[in-house]
Amino acid sequence: MNILLLGSGGRESTFAWKISQSSLCDKLIIAPGNGGTGTYGTNINVSVNDFDAIKKIVLAENIDMVVVGPEEPLVNGIHDFFLNDSTIAHVPVIGPKKEGAILEGSKDFSKQFMQRHNIPTAASRSFTPETLEDGLAYLQDHALPVVLKADGLAAGKGVLICTETIEAQEELKLMLGGKFGAAGATVVIEEFLSGIELSVFVLTDGENYITLPEAKDYKRIGQGDTGLNTGGMGSVSPVPFATKEFLDKIDERIIKPTVNGLKADGIDYTGFIFFGLIKVGEEPYVIEYNARMGDPETESVIPRIKNDLVELFVATSKKQLNQVRLEVSEEVAATVMIVAGGYPGEYLKGKAMSGIENLRHSYAFHAGTLIENDVVKTNGGRVIAITSLQKDLFTALQSATADAGRIYFDGKYFREDIGFDLV
Ligand code: ATP
Repeated sequence: MNILLLGSGGRESTFAWKISQSSLCDKLIIAPGNGGTGTYGTNINVSVNDFDAIKKIVLAENIDMVVVGPEEPLVNGIHDFFLNDSTIAHVPVIGPKKEGAILEGSKDFSKQFMQRHNIPTAASRSFTPETLEDGLAYLQDHALPVVLKADGLAAGKGVLICTETIEAQEELKLMLGGKFGAAGATVVIEEFLSGIELSVFVLTDGENYITLPEAKDYKRIGQGDTGLNTGGMGSVSPVPFATKEFLDKIDERIIKPTVNGLKADGIDYTGFIFFGLIKVGEEPYVIEYNARMGDPETESVIPRIKNDLVELFVATSKKQLNQVRLEVSEEVAATVMIVAGGYPGEYLKGKAMSGIENLRHSYAFHAGTLIENDVVKTNGGRVIAITSLQKDLFTALQSATADAGRIYFDGKYFREDIGFDLV
């Protein structure tokens, strides 16, 4: 099979690594890819949102399957674009159509979906510029802290946790006044839940699903999970506090009602669903849905999966996931993300990287890198993910952290405490 993978992050490097191991994969093309994905296939410099250019690649390279990494093309309707064009409609797309991707693309939609299907989540109400006064009054009586969320995609920046009523009211005015553009045209005001977060993933064909290993990611830039939010600074899988009993609760109360709810609503969903969860006491609640795998969770989850990933994708496209038995390694994965100095604020690009050949016990999944004159250079905020798969969490964490120290580039930074709170 010829496979086209869309994306350019650490998540896509991990997919490319795994897809390239499949006996079903004859040719792998990554658009646009990064400085590492060229090891597993051929990079083509086309944006994930340029659907016409993607169509040209599919036709020219006889592509048999498209795997979509990031959310933006899904929310923009890449799957629908394929279905609506008779020259490429036969090519399966792994990733939901627009009607399914809206679970991530609109927080207002996802809250209504959860309420409709009795899926545990924080209580909330949504407001628009027309109902600003009602929103301000709602906040006046709301318990603190209170969470304000821009409805649409805001690159992880659209969520504010306010500890004072007046601050929340000012923020609501700013958000509905256009602070996040169209993404903030509706704002969800939500009850604050106190607990510990984890991520659970399923791959579904719309009828059946398989649950992938769970993971925990670390969002903040600073040690001890302090400072600004980032795309993610590291992850571990499995999650020690996710006992079988707790995972069973997640399956019964959250995963099944979500997959059945999509069916009941007439949404034919093909692809990954990412459940951002919070454990409050012993109970799981949904914080958010994403319509794709997480990054950097993918870098910890995928290396633990023993199955051929392309076989899983083929089963997904044929609605035969009920015939698949997922096999997961007992080993523990830890991922440490190395970022450019200054990230998530301003940072420099184009710094030469060395040391990958010195890694002892880890995989290096490139993210923001490119190759220039045979030299790997930095090309983004999150630069490279270091994943170690070991017999226990402590060894995996030690080894990923030590190997992250073996990579060099000017201004490099990584957290040395990823996962150690769980040991
Ligand atoms: P992401 O970067 O994961 O895509 P996002 O912008 O889509 O984030 P959410 O995941 O909904 O937004 O929220 C971001 C973070 O804010 C969550 O990971 C969580 O830490 C915190 N958060 C969101 N909602 C709540 C809530 N109701 N109670 C407590 N914390 C919350």
